[in-house]
Formats: sequence, structure tokens, C-alpha cells
Amino acid sequence: MIKIKVNTKGRYDFIDLTERVAQIVEKSNLNSGIVSIFVKGTTAALTIMEFEEGIKKDIKNILEKIAPENADYEHHKKWQDHNGAAHIKSAIIGPSLVVPFEEKKLSLGVWQAITLIDFDEKPRERELIIKVIN
Ligand code: ZN
Repeated sequence: MIKIKVNTKGRYDFIDLTERVAQIVEKSNLNSGIVSIFVKGTTAALTIMEFEEGIKKDIKNILEKIAPENADYEHHKKWQDHNGAAHIKSAIIGPSLVVPFEEKKLSLGVWQAITLIDFDEKPRERELIIKVIN
């Protein structure tokens, strides 16, 4: 199990992790299997997407319709914080991914990028837990 730290800026910070995950698979002692990637925390998420500016804007626009940042959330009353929208987006997209690999290469399509999205309202240091499994 490998833990890596990633510094994020928050507020829809998209970070392409594909190269880092590919290197971990490359250095593992397995030729084929699956790699699981998990982000700790309830205001970030992992997805696979085309890592392109238009898609980033589209994802942001759609998610803002579902959970606008400046709306009122019950969560704010409980903790006196303001990241209720981030918690919802994180819960919808989810904290983990599983990607297969063969001959030490991730079985991703050409445009598929393993992407961390941080929705929180402030910069964060994120911990990712990566496990290469036979
Ligand atoms: Zn919160």
C-alpha cells in the first residue's frame, strides 16, 4: 500500500494523477491486476475523465446546478463551516477508483485520465492511498 500527498487549491481543482499511478504500477512486482486509488476526506473525489478545459468547465457548471456553493446547507448549521456543497459533490462522485492493468500498463482509453477533484473552499493537503492488487 502506497500513500501519496497531493496539495490542492480547492474550489474545483482538477489534478491529473494518471502518470503517478502509472509509475506506481510500473514499480510494483505485478505484471497484471488492478490498482485501487482512494482519497481520504469528504470534500474531494476521484473520477476518470478527459482532462480538457472544456470538460472541466462543463463538470463545474453541471455540479453547480446540483449543489451551488453559495446555497444554504444543514451541514453549515452543525459545524459552522461553509463547505456543504463540497461534501455533496464529493459524495456524488465518490472517493475511489479501480483501474485494471496489463503488462505493467494501465488499461485506460487514450483520453481517460485518473483525476482528483478538490471541491473544498480552501487549499488542502490530500492523502491518497494506492494499492496494486493481483
Ligand atoms: Zn464541512
